[in-house]
Amino acid sequence: MHLLISFFSFMALSIAFASESQVNRYSVKQVAEGIFYHQGNHEEANAENLGAIANVGFIIGEKCIAVIDSGGSFYEGELLRKSIRQHSDLPICYVINTHVHPDHVLGNAAFTIDKPEFVGHEKLPAAMASRQQHFARQFSEILGDAYKGTKFIEAGTLVQVDSPIKLELGNRPLVLTAYTTAHTDHDLTVYDVNSSTLWTGDLLFVERIPALDGSINGWIDALETLGERDVEMVVPGHGPAFDGKQSKGWQDLLHYLTTVRKEVRDIINDMGTIEEAIASVGTQEADKWKLFEEYHRRNVTAAYVELEWE
Ligand SMILES: [Zn+2]
Repeated sequence: MHLLISFFSFMALSIAFASESQVNRYSVKQVAEGIFYHQGNHEEANAENLGAIANVGFIIGEKCIAVIDSGGSFYEGELLRKSIRQHSDLPICYVINTHVHPDHVLGNAAFTIDKPEFVGHEKLPAAMASRQQHFARQFSEILGDAYKGTKFIEAGTLVQVDSPIKLELGNRPLVLTAYTTAHTDHDLTVYDVNSSTLWTGDLLFVERIPALDGSINGWIDALETLGERDVEMVVPGHGPAFDGKQSKGWQDLLHYLTTVRKEVRDIINDMGTIEEAIASVGTQEADKWKLFEEYHRRNVTAAYVELEWE
């Protein structure tokens, strides 16, 4: 009985805290037949935006549905699940996490009711184990009520680097590929064979400045291969989905990363310090990216630390 009361008071609370506008504002766009995504805001996560700052979405097959990234809060996960139910009653058989960053995984627990298989890169469980305490502390505070219900759910189906796997949604195969260290050390892409749509996770940022949490060399290498792929549609980790024939999104990110790498290398070769690098590297990119102030210095710092040992 006690549990039952707690459950109902929790449900009442979750309905009470989300204003109607937050719920109405949550919309998904169709990018190809049966493929939908919600485009995250170019903001830092906060209670008002429910942490909905990354692209998340779903693919509907003939037998079941795959969720790709579950949202930046438990509550975003619930909104995404509601959107799915407006389009299909089929079971949700997979929740794919492209990597561990909170804006991509904090909605996982909203889908446990569907008993899906959670899928990720072979290194995702280690990344989640080492970061979850820190994420819990930080995001329970940042997100407030939207965080309530969050659980860190470890992926049970893992994708090895160099061994892509196929998931079947019913006449709808998805190919999942795991990468060596790039944006993080556990990036995963999802490719829908039927529509030739590539879901990149945070290997691609559009409009919003990238956050370097892996290897600048590895990321540049990954982009050079990925950007060459012949696909119909691309859904990046942040920013609008776009026609696969367009290359601007790939080129802008590649330009940013190669600029940072070149200028950091020049400073290191001249025996310059990390402070000098932070003060000068890539500042000409400021006008091109949303949230530049929030992330650029961190990117330069990470690049310097990596490149000084070359
Ligand atoms: Zn990320």
